[in-house]
Amino acid sequence: MKPVIIISADWREEAGGAIELGNWYVSAVIQAGGIPLAAPPSEDFDDFESAASDILSAGSALLLSGGPDVDPCFFGQGPHRRLGRVNPVRDQLEMALARHALKRGIPVLGICRGMQLLNVAAGGGLVQDIQSSMPKALCHFVQAPRAYPTHWVTVVPGSMLHRILGHDRIRVNSFHHQACSPLAPGFVQAARADDGVVEAIELQPGQGPSHFALGVQWHPECMFRKFPLFLRLFEALVKAAQGGMP
Ligand code: MN
Repeated sequence: MKPVIIISADWREEAGGAIELGNWYVSAVIQAGGIPLAAPPSEDFDDFESAASDILSAGSALLLSGGPDVDPCFFGQGPHRRLGRVNPVRDQLEMALARHALKRGIPVLGICRGMQLLNVAAGGGLVQDIQSSMPKALCHFVQAPRAYPTHWVTVVPGSMLHRILGHDRIRVNSFHHQACSPLAPGFVQAARADDGVVEAIELQPGQGPSHFALGVQWHPECMFRKFPLFLRLFEALVKAAQGGMP
C-alpha cells in the first residue's frame, strides 16, 4: 500500500471561496510514490486543534504547501507595510497541523510558506520583507518561469538535506519575499543563499519524537520535471511516511 500524504490547501475568499492546491504538489507526491490527499482550511472548523489531529490520522505524512504570508501576529509582530495577503483561517489550521505533526512524530515537509509556517509553529519568527530588512540581499522574488533556477544555495554538510540531495551547492528557483529568522528551538539551518538568507531548515536529531521535519524555501515541486534531483525531497518524505529515514 502506498502512503497517504496530506497536503495543506488554500481557501481563496476573493476567488469565490475556491479551495486551491497547485497540481505541482499533487504530481510530485504521486511521482514520488505517495497518494496525495488535500486538506483545505475552513471557517466551519470549530476547533482547529482537534480538526488537525483528525486530519493527520488520515495520512502518514504532512506536506505544507506554498501560499500567502503567515500573519505576523503568530510570531508577536504587527503587519509590516510590505506584508502580502494573509489567510488567518489557513494559518490556524496549518499551525495546528504542524504542531501536532511535530508532537506525534509525523514526517513533515514544508515548502516556501510551508517552511515559514513550520518555523513559526515551532516557536520561530520571520523577516517580514527581505528587501526592507536586508538591503544587500539578492532578489528572492524573481519574475521567471516556475522551474527556472535563479540563485545558488549552499547545503550544510552533515545535514539530513545534504544526505537527501548529495550536493554541496545547488541552484534553485525563488518566489518568496520573507525569510525564516529567528529559527525555532530545535531547528537548524540546512541550506543558505549566498546573501545569508535561510533556504532550508530541519529538526535537529534527538529533538522530540519527530525525526523528519524539513522545510525548503524554494519550490522543488515546480523543478523536479526539469531537474529530477528535486524529486528526492518528495521521495524522502514518502520514505519517512513508511518509517524510513534519509
Ligand atoms: Mn530564495
